[in-house]
Amino acid sequence: MVELRGVHKSFGGLHVLRGVDLDVRQGQVLVVLGPSGSGKSTLLRTINHLEKVDSGSVRVDGRLLGYRQDGPRLFELPEREVLRQRTQIGFVFQAFNLFPHLTVRQNLMEAPLYAQRRPRAAVVALADRLLERVGLADKADAYPRTLSGGQQQRVAIARALALEPKLLLFDEPTSALDPELVGEVLDVIKDLAVGGTTMIVVTHEIGFAREVADLVAFMDAGRVLELGPPAQVLDDPVHERTRAFIAKVL
Ligand code: ATP
Ligand code: MG
Repeated sequence: MVELRGVHKSFGGLHVLRGVDLDVRQGQVLVVLGPSGSGKSTLLRTINHLEKVDSGSVRVDGRLLGYRQDGPRLFELPEREVLRQRTQIGFVFQAFNLFPHLTVRQNLMEAPLYAQRRPRAAVVALADRLLERVGLADKADAYPRTLSGGQQQRVAIARALALEPKLLLFDEPTSALDPELVGEVLDVIKDLAVGGTTMIVVTHEIGFAREVADLVAFMDAGRVLELGPPAQVLDDPVHERTRAFIAKVL
């Protein structure tokens, strides 16, 4: 489903991704750990082509994002096409970024209505079904500012699901939340995992990684230093750096 090969990315002189290889199969959950500045967010952003890689390749569902391949030659796709491709990948950020002037239901309806031009009645039904799924059916007509952080993040997840993406990316979805609100958001993500959604989740919630991840990657200085099942990476890592990091975030 997601395949990275030899991905390099620099910002000016700063070499942020230094040859990343990754494979996430359909239905798998990959949790990415690593110190601040190790390139985790940049990695996610290359996967939905918010960042263009300098070399290497990123494939989602077998397709090279942002390019059309014609034999051995690559052609960059126009921005409009890239946007369309990107709607197949849901992205949930640390800050929920809801539209403040729209109700919860309207937040969910925006992209299906205007980006996908789906019929309104179907989109209303979809929005209400998704709000039910994240436990917020009673908040459909509320405005984001009246919700708790955990509720807002669950709306953001439902909004990402509204485009029926084949892949979901989460960048520290709980790190802006008060500790008592973290669980409700992780529970929603856990339900999606059980439902077979393919996901890449950047998080330092080790308990979540242990319970939900099929694979854990530890990133350090732009490389995937360690990759394997949670028990291996979390309990029996190859590198001392991994062990030290895990001890620190636990
Ligand atoms: P954190 O845990 O703090 O979120 P991270 O692992 O997500 O860190 P990135 O955000 O991927 O790290 O950043 C990796 C490095 O790349 C950092 O040194 C950052 O300053 C730099 N960087 C990221 N985006 C840009 C950009 N658009 N322009 C310049 N430098 C950038
Ligand atoms: Mg980050």
